Amino acid sequence: MQGVTARPGDRLGLIGGGQLGRMFTQASMSMGFRVAVLDPDPDCPAAQVGAQPILGRWDDPAAIDALASLCSHVTVEFENVPARALFRLQKHGVLTRPGWQGLWVSQNRIREKRFLSSLGVPLPRWGVVRSERDLAGVAVEVGFPMILKTASEGYDGKGQTKVHEAPALAEAWAKLGRRPCVAESVVPFHAELSIIAARDIHGNLAYYGPMWNHHTNHILDWTIHPAPFGPVTTVEARGIARKVVEALDHVGLMTVELFLTGDGDLVVNELAPRPHNSGHWTIEGATTSQFEQQARILAGMSVGDTGADKPACMANLLGDVWAGGDPDWAGALANDRGVKLHLYGKAEPKTGRKMGHLTVLDDDPRQALARVVAVRNSLSSRGLSACSGDPIQP
Ligand code: AMP
Repeated sequence: MQGVTARPGDRLGLIGGGQLGRMFTQASMSMGFRVAVLDPDPDCPAAQVGAQPILGRWDDPAAIDALASLCSHVTVEFENVPARALFRLQKHGVLTRPGWQGLWVSQNRIREKRFLSSLGVPLPRWGVVRSERDLAGVAVEVGFPMILKTASEGYDGKGQTKVHEAPALAEAWAKLGRRPCVAESVVPFHAELSIIAARDIHGNLAYYGPMWNHHTNHILDWTIHPAPFGPVTTVEARGIARKVVEALDHVGLMTVELFLTGDGDLVVNELAPRPHNSGHWTIEGATTSQFEQQARILAGMSVGDTGADKPACMANLLGDVWAGGDPDWAGALANDRGVKLHLYGKAEPKTGRKMGHLTVLDDDPRQALARVVAVRNSLSSRGLSACSGDPIQP
């Protein structure tokens, strides 16, 4: 067994080299660590900023063994890494943070809902669909409108469909490939929130948020920190996150996505056992960024201070920004010198693909939002419809 702590100069291991892995690599390297990344793409975003690539799929035994030969501490950038990959690493004496439990629970919506129910945290009404026979049952238990979501492999609204009435249910399930699904009631939410809990090997906890998140077409559009919903919401959101990480004995970051209803109640949407898009503002906005936090926890250090001096707003840059041709980066950034640009080094700007983000800190959170959106709009000659809803009234 290796030591419980890694030291600057050591190589930290990462499974998945997308944008989250890239920002983890940057934060790790600024603390003096090296990074090795397991990813099928030799030019993945994490490798571009200096992580040593190990080519392979997440569960490729030879690639896992290669990672284990280079690193004694390994983390993941996303939850769909199969648990058997972590078991194989553990057989080599590698410490994985988080452990397999958080991944196992969050990579399947049925398991996730069961786990959250067992903790007594508030959820939408929900049921399980595994066969045609289950449809009548969920129609009664869950009611309409409902959302059917495939139990695994769905994200950003993929693998889910809204169903308005009982006669449409069988066809909706068929469209999802008759795969195991959860059916959940549509929550008439006032706002979407997230909270990120960070828990170290000693059980110390720190939190980012709650953040206020606005989605367009099921994809995160912008995030404001702090969420303007008062201290009771903050205490409750943190209490839910704490229950989750302590029940799992989770070591690492855990994001809890929540709905806030018009009555002020919180309802849990889903979990992500990792840094989250809604935490990207922490790079400029918090004493310890979420990625630095991930590296610190992986290395066995204590959680860092999550304090934030100023309100922040982050807006995503999707491939849509390229629709009118190459964005005018220099012109847009010259419009507001306080806006920070992050691009992830992805070659193909497809519609809906997360290519980068913008962050601004401002004493007035609404002004922060107005500023990032203005810069984003000025990037594309076509103009963007991405900022929908009323950003000014929570
Ligand atoms: P998910 O992939 O489950 O996070 O869903 C993506 C987005 O769909 C969420 O951020 C919400 O905007 C919306 N959504 C998902 N589930 C529900 C629900 N039960 N009620 C209302 N909106 C939902």
